[in-house]
Amino acid sequence: MDTLLQIIGFGPAALGLFITADRNGRLQQLLDCGLQVHERSASLEQWDGLGYEIEANSPIADFLGGIRRDGVFAQCLDQPQVQRWLQVPEQVVPLVQVSAFLRQLAQVIIERCQAHPRAAIHFAHGVEDVRCEADGFTVSGGWGNSSSRYLVLACGARVRELQPQEAMPATSVLCSDRVLRGRVDPILRQTLEQGRPVVVLGGSHSAFSVVGYLLERFTGLLGLGSIQVLCRRRPALWAASTRVAAPLGAQDRVDEDSGEVNRFCGLRGAAQDTLLQIEAGARASVVLHIGSTDPQPWLARGALLINATGYRPRLPGLLDAQGRQLRLDQRDGNLCKHPQSHELTVGGQAVRGLFGTGLGFSDRRGATLEVGVNFFHGRCAGNILHAVL
Ligand SMILES: Cc1cc2nc3c(=O)[nH]c(=O)nc-3n(C[C@H](O)[C@H](O)[C@H](O)COP(=O)(O)OP(=O)(O)OC[C@H]3O[C@@H](n4cnc5c(N)ncnc54)[C@H](O)[C@@H]3O)c2cc1C
Repeated sequence: MDTLLQIIGFGPAALGLFITADRNGRLQQLLDCGLQVHERSASLEQWDGLGYEIEANSPIADFLGGIRRDGVFAQCLDQPQVQRWLQVPEQVVPLVQVSAFLRQLAQVIIERCQAHPRAAIHFAHGVEDVRCEADGFTVSGGWGNSSSRYLVLACGARVRELQPQEAMPATSVLCSDRVLRGRVDPILRQTLEQGRPVVVLGGSHSAFSVVGYLLERFTGLLGLGSIQVLCRRRPALWAASTRVAAPLGAQDRVDEDSGEVNRFCGLRGAAQDTLLQIEAGARASVVLHIGSTDPQPWLARGALLINATGYRPRLPGLLDAQGRQLRLDQRDGNLCKHPQSHELTVGGQAVRGLFGTGLGFSDRRGATLEVGVNFFHGRCAGNILHAVL
């Protein structure tokens, strides 16, 4: 088998694998071993990783801290704007700016792979099925198929679908992801202009990011109670978001490079501020309903619903060598990993050679997950590279 490793998805988490390989001085080895990346976006121009119209939920240092200054990404760090970020590493910048920076990192990786006979990043290569065989994996899509010894799923996550009992007319429901990417502003504007309420369902980070987005984008159109937020329980607040994060709990681990606590639980940054302002009565246009999650009465009044009830891993079809469907173990919307080998599991058993990273594929630490920027400097990418190389 000519290819050691395939990666499905070329989003921020996949970039984290390359950033980590470069930081550990193993990027050349990774490419030499034979590497194929399959990304369903048509081209880098259409790539929109982290392209949300809100500010990042952590300082820019989190994105930059894991990148080796004298490595292959040095040219990206040398730009004037990034130099300004490095001078004030605790500043928080809009995610669309982060996204543009990540695209530049992606460009560097693409060029490296183009110059290498055994490595390639393929755009317009959506993977539909993965077959797990004794000696590796065959992935296939409309473009053909390809095999490797190891496979990393880095396909991200999609907004959780509403359950049948929560079903409602599709025209009344938007998903939080599209709202935060600024793709449905006309519908939101029309709803608010007609005096209809916007109901945000969920207490996730995305839910309060959506509320913050609406407050900022549509200020002039918001009246008393224009935004109704329905949450099962009061969202938890991220408790250790600064470099000096004391006191640490028994399960907390501090990243050696950045000082960041590698866990994620509850609201953080601007989303947390939004919740606190609502609770303090400083946002009259927002009404918070804790413990009440039935949107039907609101829909009956013509409300527009935004589904922000969390994310679920986005998975291609997964088959065993006999063509039977494999169901990966999941817990709380995240795939489970073997505690020692870090491989994904089925029925508690590791699937040999199958790994995952990114949103929906995060490492678990105690009750919380390593997500977001931890893909750049956390342990997940390091564990995978250690196992594969
Ligand atoms: C509102 C919001 C705010 C956030 N804020 C932050 C933040 O401030 N900081 C932070 O670090 N993180 C933040 N995150 C988390 C952020 O989404 C993740 O860090 C990041 O996008 C995850 O990267 P990923 O590569 O796992 O997934 P994605 O970004 O979803 O990338 C997955 C990639 O895989 C491709 N793909 C999927 N399926 C297939 C397939 N079958 N075949 C081929 N290609 C495929 C996709 O096209 C995509 O390019 C936020 C998330 C949300 C929703």
